[in-house]
Amino acid sequence: MSRRSLIAANWKMNKTVATATEFVPPLRAALPRLSNVDLALFPSFFGVRALAEALVGTPVAVGAQDLFWEESGAFTGEVSGTMLRDAGATMVIVGHSERRHVMGETNEIVARKLSASLRDGLGPILCVGELLSERDAGQEKAVVEKQLATAFHGMAADVAAGVVIAYEPVWAIGTGRTASPQDAESMHASVRAWLSGRYGNVADEIRILYGGSVKPDNAAGLIDQNNVDGFLIGGASLDPASYVAIAEAAAKVSR
Ligand code: PEP
Repeated sequence: MSRRSLIAANWKMNKTVATATEFVPPLRAALPRLSNVDLALFPSFFGVRALAEALVGTPVAVGAQDLFWEESGAFTGEVSGTMLRDAGATMVIVGHSERRHVMGETNEIVARKLSASLRDGLGPILCVGELLSERDAGQEKAVVEKQLATAFHGMAADVAAGVVIAYEPVWAIGTGRTASPQDAESMHASVRAWLSGRYGNVADEIRILYGGSVKPDNAAGLIDQNNVDGFLIGGASLDPASYVAIAEAAAKVSR
């Protein structure tokens, strides 16, 4: 089973509309070298429409970093999947570790958001990953399996096939400390085994991205692993040259 690599840029709370759109010309210039990978940018809510318009005619997807699970109503400050689609988003990140650990999102909240994203026609990236204390206690696989079990509860195989998973060990996010390619592969293989136990062969179609201090100089070793199907990149995705260099490293591995 060949899975096209997905190289996703999570810009977090960075870039104005003006600085987000400055990313587009250098990215467009690199596109001919990146035809065998999928690319997606996740700006702030404000940047979604501007980037979607600036990238019309390219294969680059634009997504949001979060959504609320209701379609509309009295939910002050929240943004629905319908609104994101209206702005031009085709994807959304759910359950990023900063939402789980800074904003207090539980596995149950993440599950509601995942199911809303699928209902609203947005391709989700579901983030999972353990804290350093959980890894030190040997709990990393159990923690991630619990996150998966809650998120995929009651989901049919044909729907699950449309979910991208990002394994992001919390201790590697924004810290400069990356999981070794072997550590990443071991966790990705265990996520794949969990998916396969639940969904059989469909597990082979589901992309599992790695996230956590991915940089141009460590991308090649990580993407070389059988079960690493791309990246969710924070800090190193803010600069177009560095994002493109990571995507090029992935594009060299034929899938
Ligand atoms: C992320 O935001 O998902 C992430 C992995 O950040 P960083 O690449 O900066 O560690």
